[in-house]
Amino acid sequence: MLGLMQHYPLLVSSLLEFARTQHRDTPIISRRVEGDIHRSDYSQVANRACQAAHALDAWNIPAGSRVATLAWNGYRHFELYYGVSGSGRVLHTINPRLHPEQMAWICNHAEDEVLCFDLSFLPLVQALQSKVPSIRHYVALCDADKLPVDSGIPNLVSYEQWIAGHPTVYAWPQLDENTASSLCYTSGTTGNPKGVLYSHRSSVLHAMAIAMPDAMGLGAQQVVLAVVPMFHVNAWGLPYAAALTGFTLVFPGAALDGKSVYELMEAEQVTMAAGVPTVWQMLLGYVQSQGLRFNTLRSTVVGGSACPPAMLRTFAQDYGVDVRHAWGMTETSPVGTVNTLKRKHMGLDVQAQHALRIKQGRGVFGVDIEIVDGHGQPLPHDGKTPGDLLVRGAWVMKDYYRSDNPSPLQDGWFPSGDVATIDADGYLQITDRSKDVIKSGGEWISSIDVENIAMAHPAVAMAACIGVPHPKWDERPIVVVVKKPGMALETADLLAFYQGKMSKWQIPDDVVFVDSIPLGGTGKMQKNKLRDVLKDYQLPSAQTV
Ligand code: ADP
Repeated sequence: MLGLMQHYPLLVSSLLEFARTQHRDTPIISRRVEGDIHRSDYSQVANRACQAAHALDAWNIPAGSRVATLAWNGYRHFELYYGVSGSGRVLHTINPRLHPEQMAWICNHAEDEVLCFDLSFLPLVQALQSKVPSIRHYVALCDADKLPVDSGIPNLVSYEQWIAGHPTVYAWPQLDENTASSLCYTSGTTGNPKGVLYSHRSSVLHAMAIAMPDAMGLGAQQVVLAVVPMFHVNAWGLPYAAALTGFTLVFPGAALDGKSVYELMEAEQVTMAAGVPTVWQMLLGYVQSQGLRFNTLRSTVVGGSACPPAMLRTFAQDYGVDVRHAWGMTETSPVGTVNTLKRKHMGLDVQAQHALRIKQGRGVFGVDIEIVDGHGQPLPHDGKTPGDLLVRGAWVMKDYYRSDNPSPLQDGWFPSGDVATIDADGYLQITDRSKDVIKSGGEWISSIDVENIAMAHPAVAMAACIGVPHPKWDERPIVVVVKKPGMALETADLLAFYQGKMSKWQIPDDVVFVDSIPLGGTGKMQKNKLRDVLKDYQLPSAQTV
């Protein structure tokens, strides 16, 4: 006897069946597109996910086929996460904020066969329909009586009609755990989007990792608001971690403004919430302007782009909310690092703790991180030396989906395109995206550092730092600023605010005030668009060289 353990494949369907028995009556709460609040639980979700799986069988959708969604965060979308992947098909979540041309490109590249969509996206689907011949079936995520007549979409059915009458149990296939479960495309700020295909194994392992106490700290006592969209990198794995740990799950639907998010948090006694900084900015703006407090919220996970230190401080000091800063990308499922302190840091003063907490955190087990120089040589983990960030692990991509290009891996490591430092305790700090870093006279200036300082100014709502050509220094930073409503701010005031906060040569040369900064499909600032807008801009300092 070799005395080995059993083989128990890590499957998305096993998460659901676990939740069905262990957490059957734990609530799943959704704000619907219609505006009302819908209440379900894990047992109903499991029943209906099984019905959706049968409905796909009835249409003879083969194993491995892509079933696409164009939907907000809500219970029906959650059911599809399990019904589609659990039954062996691949869930392809489409980001509705992408340009329609890009969306058509993605659907054709994925060869989607079914498209399930929220009615708010009906016009998008109408425009898409003639451009994606592979889609054979359309499902509107609505009640039967809400199905639009004369939509122009052939054989459109409502989700409720579609799943009705099917059995509420399903013999989930015992797939190889390396079978594909879901597909997500990067936003493609340059060139065409690239597909990343997740497996059952990588999704389950990722869910286990993010639930850990020093990661998101998830468990059956938590009430989690998933603001981070299910249409981008699987809402950071929360839909899987939900069934794994049995937390109460709250979905905000399409209402992501500060007031709606705040009211939902208070009404449903949310203890933890996850989202990108722009969402928290809207929330904090509302809470501050109305003089409100968070009565149940204890922690937020912030990632997707750098959490401004001022935001972290406001959450912690003014509202007693613990911010866990996290880093990741589509290619890493997405979570790679999360920031929580170690025991030895508990004795540090508030300032020193803050300096540590603004970093993007430590790698979770299952993901390795390394920084290298231009020749691929490892750089010291001293918290000071920046290098190209490489990553590898159990939920890190090997190859892009259906790509003609060779694998991007370098000796087994995926080059993230980010520039970062790592300190002796393993904390990662992203200094920039390599394409955003400002190269001034042979030195690098972190655009994130420049933005973070501007964001700490009370009159600044949003700040983006970009490099502009300079005859002597190659490039110099400028900071593009949106002021808070009703606040006055002059260029000289903001430049003076930088004094003493960074080295003189790192301080931006100019401030450009704008009404808005273009945001991409996932709420990130689109610096390439900003550079286009400002292409005729001339630096005042360039004229005096
Ligand atoms: P894309 O925006 O290219 O589609 P992702 O949504 O996968 O891709 O974004 C990944 C990128 O977002 C990372 O490579 C990094 O540049 C940035 N990012 C994510 N989290 C953070 C963070 N906490 N701080 C700074 N940058 C971050």
